[in-house]
Amino acid sequence: MHMPAWMESGLQHVWLPYAQMKTAAPPLPVVRTHGCRLELADGRVLIDGVASWWTACHGYNHPHIAQAVRAQLDAMPHVMFGGLAHEPALALARRLAALLGPGLDRVFYTDSGSVAVEVAMKMALQYWLNQGERGRSRFLAFRGGYHGDTFGTMAVCDPEEGMHSLFRGMLAGHDIVDLPRDDAGEQALDALLAERASRLAGILVEPLVQGAGGMLVHEPQVLRRLRRLADRHGLLLIFDEIFTGFGRTGTMFAFEQAGVRPDIVTLSKALTGGTLPLAATVASSRVFEAFWSDDPAHALMHGPTFMGNALACAAAHASLDLFEAEPRLEQARAVSAALAEGLEPCRELEWVRDVRVLGAIGVVELNGIADRDGLRRRLVEAGVWVRPFGNVVYLTPALNIAPEDLATLTRAVARVLRGGRP
Ligand SMILES: *Cc1c(COP(=O)(O)O)cnc(C)c1O
Repeated sequence: MHMPAWMESGLQHVWLPYAQMKTAAPPLPVVRTHGCRLELADGRVLIDGVASWWTACHGYNHPHIAQAVRAQLDAMPHVMFGGLAHEPALALARRLAALLGPGLDRVFYTDSGSVAVEVAMKMALQYWLNQGERGRSRFLAFRGGYHGDTFGTMAVCDPEEGMHSLFRGMLAGHDIVDLPRDDAGEQALDALLAERASRLAGILVEPLVQGAGGMLVHEPQVLRRLRRLADRHGLLLIFDEIFTGFGRTGTMFAFEQAGVRPDIVTLSKALTGGTLPLAATVASSRVFEAFWSDDPAHALMHGPTFMGNALACAAAHASLDLFEAEPRLEQARAVSAALAEGLEPCRELEWVRDVRVLGAIGVVELNGIADRDGLRRRLVEAGVWVRPFGNVVYLTPALNIAPEDLATLTRAVARVLRGGRP
């Protein structure tokens, strides 16, 4: 394809994510977005099946978010959060607390998901230290999990699938185990915790679906088991809702489907409707109270430079307005049904291992993908933007995607996969 001049010259100087720069296919030059569409430099238009790592839950360029960000830009783009406060951040904190429901009511802002998880871990560790418990330096996390790319979070990802096996020797040691998918799993974990809980600060899990670790789904019952085990062994329970938060699984937050609540929850990805970087770590009052003291050493010593960025908070407000004003969750459920129907034909293919759908997440897991770039190219030729990883081809479109666009996406995936073992 034709490469615009800015790309040809700029590619010599940019380092791309998750890519062997020498051999990977060059990225696609995008010049404009609109709704569920990406317009490329050569004029081609692709229907977007990924929603930019599932952040753009209302589609691109939603006028309500654009207007809110423009107004905030004129009033005050950013001020430091140390010693200064502003309405966008404080009103958003109140709004998030109301959405999350009783108990989850203290919002700490950061600017990326990984850092939100780092902060959750730091809160959990210091929660114990502030109470004079010194030996709790580890976390229980799960195979198949993904919590970020920073050093703290790499250590709680799946040690093999988490993309970080190279650094294994340099990462903190945690207990990474199988999710308790059945009663036997719960008993095994109960026994393990009886032995190890006194060295643990908490349990960290992505509720209902482990995203970047392979789009692996589990029953709400698993979360009830984890809540039970956390209570029995006196551990904090942290839900990483960075993937699942804001409607992706069909409810505002995935934990609602299990009827249990975490002690700390992390949010990011769709928080600003895919427009500006923002993340939040929300703690329960029980956690917060362990920091509330006359001793300065009990304070949480953390504060990213762009903490509580006013533009991002304005975007998040506008995104939450849209969840109120438009039937987003019903749309997510309609997307779910259409994904299930549209991807089902893939199941009969010899190279397909599984087809699964949870909320607005559709996954075709293959036995293997020999040529991922080739598969992506064929999908682009079919007019869609879908980015397979590991052994999975997945769709996480905007929650308000038009039914005909979603049909184009699932048809393209089915047709390309039918065309031959990728
Ligand atoms: C994406 C993701 C992260 C990391 O977020 P970044 O903004 O990329 O740092 C952490 N946890 C989960 C569940 C995610 O999906």
